[in-house]
This record gives sequence, structure tokens and C-alpha cells, in this order.
Amino acid sequence: MVSLWKPKLTSELKSVHYRNDNLFIYLLHSMKSCHNYFFFAVNSDYPDLRKHNNCMASALTPAIYAKLRDKITPNNWTLDQCIQTGVDNPGHPFIKTVGMVAGDEESYEVFAEIFDPVIKDRHNGYDPRTMKHPTDLDASKIHSAVFDENYVLSSRVRTGRSIRGLSLPPACSRSERREVERVTIQALSGLKGDLSGHYYSLTEMTEQEQQRLIDDHFLFDKPVSPLLTCAFMARDWPDARGIWHNNEKTFLIWINEEDHTRVISMEKGGNMKRVFERFCRGLKQVEHLIQERGWEFMWNEHLGYILTCPSNLGTGLRAGVHVRLPKLSKDPRLGKILENLRLQKRGTGGVDTAAVGDIFDISNLDRLGKSEVELVQLVVDGVNYLIECEKRLEKGQDIKIPAPIQQSRK
Ligand code: ADP
Ligand code: MG
Repeated sequence: MVSLWKPKLTSELKSVHYRNDNLFIYLLHSMKSCHNYFFFAVNSDYPDLRKHNNCMASALTPAIYAKLRDKITPNNWTLDQCIQTGVDNPGHPFIKTVGMVAGDEESYEVFAEIFDPVIKDRHNGYDPRTMKHPTDLDASKIHSAVFDENYVLSSRVRTGRSIRGLSLPPACSRSERREVERVTIQALSGLKGDLSGHYYSLTEMTEQEQQRLIDDHFLFDKPVSPLLTCAFMARDWPDARGIWHNNEKTFLIWINEEDHTRVISMEKGGNMKRVFERFCRGLKQVEHLIQERGWEFMWNEHLGYILTCPSNLGTGLRAGVHVRLPKLSKDPRLGKILENLRLQKRGTGGVDTAAVGDIFDISNLDRLGKSEVELVQLVVDGVNYLIECEKRLEKGQDIKIPAPIQQSRK
């Protein structure tokens, strides 16, 4: 099928407002579309996904591709740019990836025909057209959230937040990225008491300081992962990247890694209750400080908080522990137990590290369709269950695979 490029100048040009060169790029893109129209059928551009195993590859069809290939967001972002990371990375060795990213808030709308099925697949049936995402940051509702420290070594809760009006990390210009950094650190300077802290720019850190923060699990890894580089997120590294943290390094904000911001609460030991309380308190203050300066976070009622990767939509929340499970990790039932409890296993060095030895990063698999409180409680109950299993195996007793947890509310 040949795609027809139909200029909708009035409506499309109305949204051209971010950069001076926008009109020029728009015209270039239009010329490219015309060129493709005259010389190549749209299906000759269709990516070869036959050996792929990611959500995008499962959902994309030649018909969807033909419909979306020549569309463009107000920030000049295209379908091909969204899916490039999933085309270049057929699969991830440890987790099933999503295979696409958004370049701006509007990507989720302009390319909804592909984002919607991907979101539904990744978020266990959540339908972004008909369902609404709940938010609940009331940490007092969490119970049984102090883990046995013979097993749990550290507890952490993170989310991401994007600043409305600026392109996301795959698409942003240098000036937009620097604006994210400026706006965020200006807001963070308003944090008080135990949350007050300082910003440490990657460009001003020594290699040793940076490595130390990575080794201590405080800082994001260097952008070596092909998932990141093929999504254009390592451009200009380390320009405008950095970490802000309080003195105790229990409340941290990453700037311009995979999202505009990542907000993290963490500490050693098993007190997830305290970690989540600090997370909720800090996050509310950060949002307030951003809003005070006339900015807001990207959000809508169907997708919740808008982040770069569709896997992080909704709450953006990953609550997890580093937990020692020497016996259970060798049990062939662990995979099914985690699946039924809607938990994910990672290596302790982050998403790109294999789970080696006896210690794992166990966290919630879902982020969308359940509130922050629901997800943290799900992790708390799940981790307590895993520890219970480990103790039973230590005593030579049998363990059970729990019934699957229902994910999406109808
Ligand atoms: P994220 O989903 O937050 O990006 P990654 O898997 O990329 O997480 O890991 C980022 C860093 O956070 C890594 O150094 C990892 O070891 C650290 N980390 C993740 N969970 C925990 C935890 N429960 N305790 C301590 N460090 C953690
Ligand atoms: Mg990460």
C-alpha cells in the first residue's frame, strides 16, 4: 500500500511553537514524505521484525505502520524514531522489553494506534482508551512493611516525572535538556529539613566520584545499554545530567537520564514503610516547588504520569528490595511465583545486570492501573511471601505457588 501524505497545514502548523527551526524541519520532513510517496511504497520501509520479541514487534502491523509513518508530533518526532530502539534490539536477555519510547507527551496521542496495544500488553490488559489511572500517595495506608533484615538488605522506591512543554530525553535538544536541569535544580533548592541537599553535575564530577556513586547504587549507570543508546538517550552525554541528593543520600533525584527526572527514596535495611513515607512526602514537595515556578508535570487521567518508556506510565513507580534468597532462587518454581505475584527480578547492579549469586532486586512489574499505595503493598506482601518460602525451604518444608493476582480494574 502506498501512503498518501496529506498536508493539514492549519492544524499542524498551529502546534508548531517550541523551536524557531521547527517550520524548517517540518518542511524537510514533508519533502521526505513526498519523496517516499513518489519513489517508495510505505511497505518497503517496514522494519524486519521476524526475529523480535518485544511488545512493539508483537503489536506493529504493516497497516498501522502505513497509517502512522508520515505523522509528526509538534516536536517533529516520528513513528520510526519511537520504534528504533525496538527494531535495533530484538530482545533483552533478562526481561521482555517494550521496544519503543515517546519523544514528547504528544507521541502517546499521535501514535496511539501503536502505543495503546503496547501499553495494554505491557500493563496486563490496561486499556488506555477506557480506563482511568488512580493516584494515591498516602503512605499511612501501608502495613506489614518492615522486612526481616536477615533477608532484605536495602529498600527503595522510585518514580519519574516529566516537565510539560519540553521534549523527552530521546528527542530533546541541548537547550531543552539544560532547561530541565535548570528548572529542576532551582525547584529542589526549596526543599527543607531532612530533604534539603545539593546538586552534583556529571560534568563536574571526577570519574572516581561518579563510579563510587554507581557502585553504591545511588547513581544511574553509564549509557552503555543499547536500549538507551538506540533510543537516542545518550546524546551529548554527560551534558546536563546529574544527581541531586540530601546529606544522608536517602532522597535522590536523577536529572536527564532516561526521564527528565527520577525521584528516589532509599536506605539500607528493610524499613519499606519509612522509605515510602519519605518518598511520598518528598515527591509532593518537589511537585509543589515545580508548580510554584509555573511548570507542571506531564499527566493525564488515562495514562497517569507520562514518562519516556511506556513501561513506566501511570505511577512510574518501582518499589523494590535487594533480598537474599539462596534456596528459593535455585527452586524452579520461583519464576512462576514471581509471575503470579506480579513481581520482577533484576540483578543488583540494575536492569542490565544478570541476577548472580543469592541476592536479587525484586520489584513490582506493573506501574499503570494501580495506585502507588496498591503497588507498594503488593511488593510488601510479595516480598514477605518470598521470605516465608525461603524460611520453609531452610527447614526442609514444601512451598506453594500462589494464585495469580488480578491486575487491571475494569
Ligand atoms: P531503575 O528502575 O530505578 O532505573 P535500575 O535497575 O536501572 O533501576 O538500577 C539503578 C540503580 O539502582 C542500580 O545501581 C541498582 O543497583 C540500584 N537499586 C535498585 N533497587 C535497589 C534497592 N532495592 N536497593 C539498593 N539499590 C537499588
Ligand atoms: Mg534504570
